[in-house]
Amino acid sequence: MRTRFAPSPTGPLHLGHAWSAWSAHDMARAAGGAFLLRIEDIDRQRSKPVWEARIEEDLHWLGIAWDEPPLRQSERMEAYHAALDVLWDRELLYPCTCTRRDIAEALSAPQEGAPMGPDGPVYPGTCRGRPRDGARPRDAHLRLDMGVALGGLAGTAFEETGPLRPGGVRTERETYLDRIGDVVLARRDFGTSYHLSVVVDDAAQGITHVVRGADLFEATPIHVLLQRLLDLPTPVYHHHDLVRDDAGKRLAKRDDARSIESYRAAGWTAAALRTRLDRALTAP
Ligand code: GLU
Repeated sequence: MRTRFAPSPTGPLHLGHAWSAWSAHDMARAAGGAFLLRIEDIDRQRSKPVWEARIEEDLHWLGIAWDEPPLRQSERMEAYHAALDVLWDRELLYPCTCTRRDIAEALSAPQEGAPMGPDGPVYPGTCRGRPRDGARPRDAHLRLDMGVALGGLAGTAFEETGPLRPGGVRTERETYLDRIGDVVLARRDFGTSYHLSVVVDDAAQGITHVVRGADLFEATPIHVLLQRLLDLPTPVYHHHDLVRDDAGKRLAKRDDARSIESYRAAGWTAAALRTRLDRALTAP
């Protein structure tokens, strides 16, 4: 078994991160497997080395050690370009010049029923007819043509072991077309995307069990389809419940008051924090 923790160094780790890291770490240790760290820093504007250093410090404080040097996504652009080239050469990608506003306008009254996908409103397909031959444009948004990518596929499946939807999870072709749509796989500003990079790197790190928050459950069918298209193995997924604040609201990175560092500063021990989280997440 090989698991990983994959934070973005764009702010302090909070309680939700601690839970994710502990879950992935403990699952690997219990099985005598390996636990790895990946720094997801494709957003060069928001990622800062200082956050990366503080993430590592917090993980040490939590009692978490990783078995291989951390993989840094900013050093992996060649691998992402290679994967995008494969998809481009198969004419599965097209350049898109739509702004958020263009998309909102193309979808009449998006707030009233246009389906929301994992990345926002399902793309209406405005740019789908654009040429996809010649060299792959490096400075454009590239979308996956979902219909062409699916080909004759009736659907996909993955195995989920998390508490929310344990068992086999199937995603039908119609769901891909109507509820996910033509997702962006290369952003003009990043040269890649979260979906593309996470799939390429989970395979590169040999991850057998992806442990992460339930907020990424809906994005998983995109990853499973990309694994098929790129001929990569599909790991087992374990989406854990999200840590919520006392009002039941999901914790976001901007809630600095709940950062691991603030607990450290207030004199908490990692063991006490762990007990608190165990209770919060196993409470009926
Ligand atoms: N980098 C993502 C985050 O910080 C996690 C991605 C993943 O675990 O697949 O939310």
